[in-house]
Amino acid sequence: MKSNKQRRAEIVARRLARADRLRVQMKTPQDARGFAVQPGCVPADTVLLARLNNSYGLPSFYLDRPFTCRDCGAQAVWTAKQQKWWYEVVRAHIDSRAVRCLPCRRARRTALAASRAAPGANRLGDEVAWLRAVSAAPPDAQTEARVEAALRSKWDGVRKVAIEVLGRWRRPADLPRLREWAHDESLGRWSAVRRAAAEALAAASNEKTT
Ligand SMILES: [Zn+2]
Repeated sequence: MKSNKQRRAEIVARRLARADRLRVQMKTPQDARGFAVQPGCVPADTVLLARLNNSYGLPSFYLDRPFTCRDCGAQAVWTAKQQKWWYEVVRAHIDSRAVRCLPCRRARRTALAASRAAPGANRLGDEVAWLRAVSAAPPDAQTEARVEAALRSKWDGVRKVAIEVLGRWRRPADLPRLREWAHDESLGRWSAVRRAAAEALAAASNEKTT
């Protein structure tokens, strides 16, 4: 009686051998058209792919793709059929690839679900939701202290929403630091924090900023 693990190992071995065979047979994409009916090679819906992706070099067929699992280092095969499902049914980006074997993918999914369910796991989300709910009314000392802490957060998402609170409060005393953040080159040109600061500044001072 074979264990599931043994059976799975045999399937992977067969797929690896098949991928090797196909690689030898298909030197060019033209060859693939002749083999497109074989298992391990599946024609792509080129019209759909062109509609979903605006990049060049879209595949006209999928070939079993051997890869090394990022987590456990095992040899695995991403089958042509799985690729077709991934790109055409899930409609994932054409540059995305399978990087983990099936057992590692399952283990990761379980671990992620567990970490999301853990208490405190969504603290960031809670903080952002709280900041969004802070009204434009003059703040009490406690609210003010919590917003100040959020302004110093290491998470840009939290800082950005805290800055939006300053925009709602429109306090003249905040103008200098809003101006400073809006022009802080070290944050990068497309920083959400900078953009939020520029918008808060405009709201607080009615001055146009660029
Ligand atoms: Zn693995």
